[in-house]
Amino acid sequence: MELTLNNPADTDWAPQTKVDLQAFNTLSLPAQAAFYCQLQQISDLFAAQQYCQAQELNWMLLGGGSNVVLTDDFNGLVMHMQLSGKNWLTPEQLHHPPAVDDDNLVYLSVGAGEHWDELVAWSLDQGAYGLQNLSLIPGLVGAAPIQNIGAYGVELAHVLHEVMVFDFATGKQFSLSAEQCELAYRDSIFKRQSNWLVVNVTLALSRKPQIQIDYGDIAAHLEATVSIPSAQITPQQVRDAVIAIRRQKLPDPANIPNVGSFFKNPVVSIDKAEQIRSQWPQLVAYKQTNQQVKIAAGWLIDQLGWRGYNKAGVGVHKHQALVLVQLANSPNKSTGLELLNLAQQIQADVERHFGIRLAVEPRLFANTGEISIDAI
Ligand SMILES: Cc1cc2nc3c(=O)[nH]c(=O)nc-3n(C[C@H](O)[C@H](O)[C@H](O)COP(=O)(O)OP(=O)(O)OC[C@H]3O[C@@H](n4cnc5c(N)ncnc54)[C@H](O)[C@@H]3O)c2cc1C
Repeated sequence: MELTLNNPADTDWAPQTKVDLQAFNTLSLPAQAAFYCQLQQISDLFAAQQYCQAQELNWMLLGGGSNVVLTDDFNGLVMHMQLSGKNWLTPEQLHHPPAVDDDNLVYLSVGAGEHWDELVAWSLDQGAYGLQNLSLIPGLVGAAPIQNIGAYGVELAHVLHEVMVFDFATGKQFSLSAEQCELAYRDSIFKRQSNWLVVNVTLALSRKPQIQIDYGDIAAHLEATVSIPSAQITPQQVRDAVIAIRRQKLPDPANIPNVGSFFKNPVVSIDKAEQIRSQWPQLVAYKQTNQQVKIAAGWLIDQLGWRGYNKAGVGVHKHQALVLVQLANSPNKSTGLELLNLAQQIQADVERHFGIRLAVEPRLFANTGEISIDAI
């Protein structure tokens, strides 16, 4: 659904120049933006779009910077998403009618610049449930559909209703239904449409708590800490458990710079998984619905002895082989290229031993735009 253009750009608009991006990416990588602006209202987007077109500038969008690797200074405009706002919508106000008639569902429209975990906490306080398993994922709301964020058995796909998009090539805004976003494991249409910026996300949350604790350590943690029958567990208790488990398992980027999982869990055929298991009986893998198997990438990396490795200021986290880190106490900050060099060594080692090519999860940027690790 297309909307009319009613936000003419401010002709006096100009970006800042030479802005340091180190504090804006959770790997704390050194990089500078030649031009930089904050997007606080839709008119900023129109202004930035016209500026880039007039100056023939490259551009990139940054949210919380928790899923990017900056390998160089950016020779263009870095736009920092800050569009805020939370609004409850009636079913009649939606761009795409609800697929099911469920009186328990409530619709929450959220600006792309809102902080994801603050939204999770706020939604539970409002008695609107569904986000609790996605607690403590860093970053902003607008980035959530980009890789269909997921954790502890829940993905954004379970609660997304629709997304408002700004096309940076045309300046047009339109709405996509959740289905049109083509959400899949760490994937969406936005990875194939590089000009589409998410400006607003509408979630379908439930007034009726639906508890999902059969994934990972949540049930065991709840049993050890609150010890009540599972039918009585509240979404807030699930959130508290997820937060406690994540704090134990994952390094906090404020202390040890990182972007969470550096590689996606590879999905392979049952035959391939069995072939690996014949040599590595302890293989950690999960059956999928479509005759495929998802293998724990961290387990593969761990078997090859990479956990705890460090060199030249970058390394593999000592408790989590899937998380590459910038060593906080290293005298010199490493560059994104040094980190990607380590990632390439891990990819090659895993491929040699298991015959599986690990795909990189975060998005990689060089001085003019996005790059692939294979191009380095
Ligand atoms: C400690 C840690 C734990 C993590 N755990 C998880 C986890 O459990 N599950 C999970 O899925 N992820 C996890 N992540 C990854 C990350 O938090 C998510 O991918 C998050 O959604 C990124 O949000 P961001 O705002 O920081 O995006 P950024 O890093 O700023 O951007 C990521 C990419 O999305 C694009 N982008 C950002 N905003 C928009 C927008 N509004 N419109 C269009 N494109 C946009 C950017 O251009 C970039 O290409 C973790 C990261 C860390 C550091």
